[in-house]
Amino acid sequence: MELSYQSTRGREANVTASQAILKGLAADGGLFMPCFIPRLDKTMKELSTLTYQETAYEVMKLFLTDYTEEELKNCINCAYDSKFDTEEIAPISKADGAYYLELYHGSTIAFKDMALSILPHLMTVAAKKNQVKNKIVILTATSGDTGKAAMAGFADVEGTEIIVFYPKNGVSRVQELQMVTQKGKNTHVAAIHGNFDDAQTGVKKIFGDRDFAALLKKNGYQLSSANSINIGRLVPQVVYYVYAYGKLLSGEEISEGERINVVVPTGNFGNILAAYLAKQMGVPIDKLICASNENKVLYDFFQSGIYDRNREFILTSSPSMDILISSNLERLIYLSTGCDAKKNADLMKELGETGSYTVTPDMKKFMVDFIGGYAGEAENQRTIKELFDRTGYLIDTHTGVAASVYHQYKERTKDETRTVIASTASPYKFSGNVLEALEGKKSLEDEFKIIDRLSEVSGTDIPQAVEEIRTAPVLHQTECGRDSMKEAVMGFLA
Ligand SMILES: *Cc1c(COP(=O)(O)O)cnc(C)c1O
Repeated sequence: MELSYQSTRGREANVTASQAILKGLAADGGLFMPCFIPRLDKTMKELSTLTYQETAYEVMKLFLTDYTEEELKNCINCAYDSKFDTEEIAPISKADGAYYLELYHGSTIAFKDMALSILPHLMTVAAKKNQVKNKIVILTATSGDTGKAAMAGFADVEGTEIIVFYPKNGVSRVQELQMVTQKGKNTHVAAIHGNFDDAQTGVKKIFGDRDFAALLKKNGYQLSSANSINIGRLVPQVVYYVYAYGKLLSGEEISEGERINVVVPTGNFGNILAAYLAKQMGVPIDKLICASNENKVLYDFFQSGIYDRNREFILTSSPSMDILISSNLERLIYLSTGCDAKKNADLMKELGETGSYTVTPDMKKFMVDFIGGYAGEAENQRTIKELFDRTGYLIDTHTGVAASVYHQYKERTKDETRTVIASTASPYKFSGNVLEALEGKKSLEDEFKIIDRLSEVSGTDIPQAVEEIRTAPVLHQTECGRDSMKEAVMGFLA
């Protein structure tokens, strides 16, 4: 049976999966969601013997129903190959009683590779399927990791241009270097004078600009998105939760049917929403623990039912989570209204106008499986250091937030349920902060000296992705104001 998608704001419906991927964002500003969440058609026991690629097929075939088996398997095999430094693709490390699901073994060493190594393939197939003749312009806002992963994925992909906006002072040095050294004729990146929310809001505004869309069309272009607002990002992220459960099962860490908790370091709410979808598909997941840094909008939301972005934006050592408007929460809100697009659209309108909205008691009840937590800088550093000292296992600052929140939760609830922590980036992407956590002081040395020192202190190897940028020439230098992003796009396409 074909699964169709509709906008969470109600003005677009009966859209196929490939059309939803092509569009990225619905014309009414909403996000595409399927009419129902499909159930896995194999048992967890059967799934537990599969490779990552085979698991990917079993999950994605249920969502992307207008792709043929051959198309989907091709996309999967092109994505999850030797670009990853391990055949397992997403290995699990057990440390200090928790299971760290390492999602950073792809080419840009953050979890965005899990979806962005396949999105270009899904997009190219979608373009063929829908007889798209225009060039597809992938417009993307990044808090640091999506940008590089999207540029790497789309570089020199025929029929596409990739444009990335990142906050000038809101990303790590390694993240910035990764982006500005990216090769490929069709790759473009601009540093904006603003924060991530400015970048994301600007991109969404361009998507909603009909005159601009018409102008682009006249010149043979159409827009799409590589952000997790694109359902083509979300679906591949469901896979690793299914895979992780299967691996715990086949490794006899859990027994059949045993429920696990999942902790996810959260920014735009994409990764944890994928875990929720895995649960709805039938993976025995109990609690979804949503870990925030000091930008704790989501923690407050799950406590009070009030989403309120009216607060100071704080730059932290986990920059990929420095977000006050978590786009994918809209998908959960939509589901919690019983797919009442009107109700959701009203709340989103309120968010746009006042920066805040309140959900009803019923909607809040719908979200009981989500538990919010947050960790500040000192706690994060302490967690990274203690874990390393006790076990020799090194995690990055985002995973540190998740591990901190996990410890708080366990202390508070005495819940001993086996727990998977999503480990979202290599420590080397945030070397300065990780080294500071280990040594207890800030190093003022050059970034690459810090990286060498981190390797020495931790006894871990420097990833290839970091070695590559050590000497790579800077190829992109564009900067722009947050109100001139449209002009920047025109400049790139001219
Ligand atoms: C993007 C990112 C996150 C946040 O993920 P969301 O899906 O936006 O919630 C967390 N950690 C790292 C390292 C990231 O790159």
